[in-house]
Amino acid sequence: MTCEEIFKYIENWAPKEIAWNKDNVGLQVGSSERKVKNILLSLDLNMRAVNEAINKNCNLIITHHPMLFNPIRTIDTDRDKNSLLVEKLLRHDITLFSAHTNLDFTKDGVSFQLAKTLKLKNIRFLANLKSKQYKLVIFVPDSHFEKVANAIFENGGGNIGEYSHCGFRTKGEGSFKGSEKTSPSIGKKLNYERVDEIKLEVLIDSWKLEKILSEVKKVHPYEEIAYDVYPLNNEHTNYGVGAIGETINPMNQDEFLDHISKCLKIKNFRYTGGKGSKIKTVAVCGGSGSEFISNAIKEGANAYITADIKYHTFFENEDQLLLIDAGHYETEIFSLNELNERLTALTKENKIKVFKYSRNANPVNFYNNSGA
Ligand SMILES: [Zn+2]
Repeated sequence: MTCEEIFKYIENWAPKEIAWNKDNVGLQVGSSERKVKNILLSLDLNMRAVNEAINKNCNLIITHHPMLFNPIRTIDTDRDKNSLLVEKLLRHDITLFSAHTNLDFTKDGVSFQLAKTLKLKNIRFLANLKSKQYKLVIFVPDSHFEKVANAIFENGGGNIGEYSHCGFRTKGEGSFKGSEKTSPSIGKKLNYERVDEIKLEVLIDSWKLEKILSEVKKVHPYEEIAYDVYPLNNEHTNYGVGAIGETINPMNQDEFLDHISKCLKIKNFRYTGGKGSKIKTVAVCGGSGSEFISNAIKEGANAYITADIKYHTFFENEDQLLLIDAGHYETEIFSLNELNERLTALTKENKIKVFKYSRNANPVNFYNNSGA
């Protein structure tokens, strides 16, 4: 199994096209054609993680945060931390890959895992992504309809939430008259032909359109295929930011804070206010999610758990809901469990082992002066 096959699997689940446009997801360093020995998963990359990969015979490391985020102008292996990491990876034939905001914005990605860790039920996106979808309308003679429809569905067209093969078909009559230069598959050139056709309407993710059209062209019988592609303004049901769900039982504020502490295995975290109401509806966003507080309020959340919240943001929202900053690392680390499970299942036939980086890679520590 090659790295490329692993990347394809991940990007089918968390397409790179849904990532934040300034992000740098995907291959970071090394070859994607490499045959995978073992895989190491880590939230971030540091030298200890690379050493662990070497010790565990891993030649693929997958991180959440991309190591190469800002453009590198100099490979300075005397002073620059990233340059040293690149050098080490290349020397040891290790490939580095990142799934960052694409993993944030997909189902069962970072925020869904945080919501699951907090034992929420009925988990859904806090806000769906704006479309990135097209409506494809295509006209097919009855005789070739199923072939064309299958070419669309089998290449990922017509997916809505948990449903695949979604389409709408209308029977009608198409007409055409081919010039002297044509050789129509139905009827004769220079004849005004009328043919029973089916109009198929289907939603397509924008990044799948090119492939779907090329597959359709292989099975559609016409020389000139009649189709329309409409950009959409729908919300995308399959991708979004954050997550929201309900606690199994309503909790008072202290019970809920204790619940956070236990589920995330953290002793210290920051929070503000709340209305003193029972906590039932809970919104989350793994990592820096301050910009979605208004979504949490709009959706009626009693509490919102995210990270990297500024003092003034706490201040502005203290009367709105229970706002919790549980730490960037702490709200994202559980996403590696899902990645681990999926990749273990994917690679088990190939005797590839998947490891999570064994050390705590959180660069943030809490100083506790028990005597103060
Ligand atoms: Zn992050």
